[in-house]
Amino acid sequence: MAVALAAVRERIARAAETAGRDPSSVLLIAVTKGATADRVDAAIAAGATDLGENRVQEAESKRAQLGGAARWHLIGHLQTNKAQRAASLFDMVQSVDSTRVAVALAAGLAAGREPLDVLIEVDLTAIAGRTGAPEAAVAELAHEIAQRVALRLRGLMTIAAPATDPRDAASTFRRLRSLRDDLEQRLGTALPELSMGMSDDFEVAIAEGATMVRLGRAVFGERA
Ligand SMILES: *Cc1c(COP(=O)(O)O)cnc(C)c1O
Repeated sequence: MAVALAAVRERIARAAETAGRDPSSVLLIAVTKGATADRVDAAIAAGATDLGENRVQEAESKRAQLGGAARWHLIGHLQTNKAQRAASLFDMVQSVDSTRVAVALAAGLAAGREPLDVLIEVDLTAIAGRTGAPEAAVAELAHEIAQRVALRLRGLMTIAAPATDPRDAASTFRRLRSLRDDLEQRLGTALPELSMGMSDDFEVAIAEGATMVRLGRAVFGERA
């Protein structure tokens, strides 16, 4: 685990330096789906600070076993009936893809709490069945989120289409970045985070400006 994590950090640093970026500007999110709490614990012991989980329930049971040693990011689709639990469990929700989800999260936040950091998940692939807001809906959704004091919009997240050549993902990542730049203009607020890049394409994502890479297999090995 420590070896895999060190190797991944090295690749992140090299990709950042190649792109003329500071390696510390790219946050590694260790994606825990399918990994046992023991393995996640080992990753934390090896220095992982940020964990990504697709499901509310899995995060709940892992978090109960692991305590508060890391920051948790929800990266999977959220059903509105789980929004209240998600709002209290996660430090950031990266998968807001509709006004309904945003409204449910805002309503689920305990009174007097710090605003919840969120990203809008954008689907740029048009693959049937994919979650994520379509590009045409993003501006309005961003506007809705910006109006809610309980939520703090920090940027955008995307998942590239599966590809045999990771370089094929570059245009998707570039598109997300330009969408983010447009939104910053429209809203007049900084949206610093671009969560893009997974085990197969994170170096391409870093070249295109990723500030968060979400890595499962590269950290924990192939899923069963
Ligand atoms: C599973 C998953 C990841 C990590 O994928 P790997 O290919 O294992 O790195 C990242 N983001 C999301 C949204 C995922 O569902």
